Amino acid sequence: MKVHVKRSGRLFCGISCVLIAMIFFASAITGCETQQQDKQQDSGLQIVASISIIADIAGQIAGQRGEVQYLVPIGEEPEEYEPIPSDIRAANESDVVFVNGYGLEVWLNRLMTNVSDVPVIPTAKNGPTISLVGSESPDPHLWLNPEYVRDYYVERIVSTLIELDPDGESYYRERARDYSHKLTDLHEWIKHQTEQIPDEARVIITSENCFKYYAEAYDLDCMGIWEINAPEEGTPQQIARIVQKIEDMTVPAVFLESTVDPRYMESISDETGVPIGGVVYSDDIGEKNSGADSYIKMMQQNTDVFVGALTD
Ligand SMILES: [Zn+2]
Repeated sequence: MKVHVKRSGRLFCGISCVLIAMIFFASAITGCETQQQDKQQDSGLQIVASISIIADIAGQIAGQRGEVQYLVPIGEEPEEYEPIPSDIRAANESDVVFVNGYGLEVWLNRLMTNVSDVPVIPTAKNGPTISLVGSESPDPHLWLNPEYVRDYYVERIVSTLIELDPDGESYYRERARDYSHKLTDLHEWIKHQTEQIPDEARVIITSENCFKYYAEAYDLDCMGIWEINAPEEGTPQQIARIVQKIEDMTVPAVFLESTVDPRYMESISDETGVPIGGVVYSDDIGEKNSGADSYIKMMQQNTDVFVGALTD
């Protein structure tokens, strides 16, 4: 897709030389176009996403016109990720890098200093944020509200793809429209499901307090052992604080996240006698055949886990 046309020196010569030059340029341009078309037909836009969730959303819209890969492996915390040399290579060879933004990918600055001319697009940009508890910084997990995915992530991705590949405009727009309908259905379904949770059990307790946007959208409370994944996770003070809170409430379950070390929440469950209600996906989608290997499926599975454990 990236065709660099370099200017050659001026031609100071007679008519035959001009003719030869014209033939040369004509064939060079034709060759160039053929190469460009071949690349487009072979693999389309090369898209890199920071996390698997954004990769899935971008892939839903890019369809057959793009190839998507993500950097943070499934099962790892994106806040704590250390990029490896192949990430720099992938970003460098791509047409675009989609990130979340709002401080999720602090490691990306280090990576992008080595990647000069590839656009880096923050897909959550302009989405309304909720601050981290005890901080002015925004919580970056906006994707846990499907309406925000529809209104911000999808919008940003589709406009970027059209800019990079204008021939695909109607294709991208149609796919974005279809996917947005599915996200609206997902939102309505989650709303309906979570209405079943009784008043006294309407709280999501996870290791990282990452379900703020989900909780806000579906009229739930949420809390975590720690506020956002960081090198200091599960300190004795953090554990004591959440144990105290749980003991003051009547919660039927606490939850594990797929990307977080389960031992902290397991010890809290032991100490308080409140059972683990299941594993939910917050920072990644599930592996193939996990039943959660797309954004929509992961949100459905999370909702089934929450509703199942909190309505018993
Ligand atoms: Zn997170």
